[in-house]
Amino acid sequence: MAARPMLSVEDAEKAIAAPRVSVSSEAVALATALGRFLAQDIFSPGDIPEFDKSAMDGYAYVSGDASPAFRIVETIAAGTPPRVVVTPGQCAKIMTGAMMPVGANRVVRRECTIEENGFMKIVADDANTNIRRRGEDLKTGKLVLAKGVRLRPAQVALLASLGIAEVPVAVPPRVGVIPTGSELVDPGAPLAPGQIYDSNSYSLSAQIREAGAAPVLLGRVEDNEDATVRAITAALDECDVLILSGGVSAGDFDFVPAAMRKAGFTLQFEKIAVQPGMPTVFATKNNAFAFGLPGNPVSTFVIFEVFIKPLLLRLMGHAVRPLRQPATLTADFSRANGERAAFVPVILRDGRAELVSYHGSAHLHALGRANALLRVPVGQKALAAGSIVDVRLI
Ligand code: AMP
Ligand code: MG
Repeated sequence: MAARPMLSVEDAEKAIAAPRVSVSSEAVALATALGRFLAQDIFSPGDIPEFDKSAMDGYAYVSGDASPAFRIVETIAAGTPPRVVVTPGQCAKIMTGAMMPVGANRVVRRECTIEENGFMKIVADDANTNIRRRGEDLKTGKLVLAKGVRLRPAQVALLASLGIAEVPVAVPPRVGVIPTGSELVDPGAPLAPGQIYDSNSYSLSAQIREAGAAPVLLGRVEDNEDATVRAITAALDECDVLILSGGVSAGDFDFVPAAMRKAGFTLQFEKIAVQPGMPTVFATKNNAFAFGLPGNPVSTFVIFEVFIKPLLLRLMGHAVRPLRQPATLTADFSRANGERAAFVPVILRDGRAELVSYHGSAHLHALGRANALLRVPVGQKALAAGSIVDVRLI
């Protein structure tokens, strides 16, 4: 068998980013839109504030009016429009968020006044006008949120404040998860000798969900080529992306790449110069994508984070920009060889990256202690304590 060419991390990223994708959209109720990606630009349907309003509990009066006392002509609650025009010598008692009365153009805070027998006196300087002007935060027609933005709590609040009850969002891609391996058992069941629990189905579906896409758990497949072909073919009916774990290496029972070919996929690459996760396979068929990931749990996790998540985000119209940040390494790092780029679990705290004891791609406990991945560039065998390193949160 000819040696598989090995792509650099960057070339593998480019290969996955190359196919054109289309984003379909659906309207959802705002209350259910958290975590979704906008499918259209959102323009403000109105001005914010909606009208000139008081920013304080106080008294609205005519700016510059130096009357010793102001007759209170009405009390304006938030939600009720004022009825009386305010003239010099007068004021309206006004609550935060209430509409400014005609004639008044300044509010004195209640704390700077005293009120007696229907009159208000200003007893302390209030430096502020205390009015929020119509449209000063946002004007009608202005772009408020761009297509592709992920709706976090602040964006949900903004849309609600604009009166938007339904939001156009991207339809989440359906991502099929197929764990392969005759040794796998579902958590909850007892283990027979030689068996292990299937953790990759759980990590992958959690990662898919967190990315905003829809995991479809397709059930375990034995290490058998025909069974794998059948599972891939069946999955294509209901999924846009398939992720298989296990069975991609050089073992006697590693059938995934051959099964992908038999199911009509074109293999775009079968090896990345990355550690962990080198034997990762990426394949396409029409508009469908398939990944075959090495079964070691840290490999599966890392390859999803680095290579698959950006594709899922792109399928939802989100411009891909992984949140990478510089951090100071707190201890020396070294490795036996630097032929591949490496991703290493670390704890990121206050700009410092702390190494955890890590034995390699099967060591899920190390990943469970970490909250970030340190990227070690290709060619680099050591990183000294105190150096600035590239870290991404997981
Ligand atoms: P493979 O890629 O099939 O050679 O598997 C590499 C290692 O990962 C083996 O020790 C497998 O038992 C383990 N492994 C494979 N699939 C899973 C899975 N779904 N969950 C946890 N470990 C797995
Ligand atoms: Mg296997």
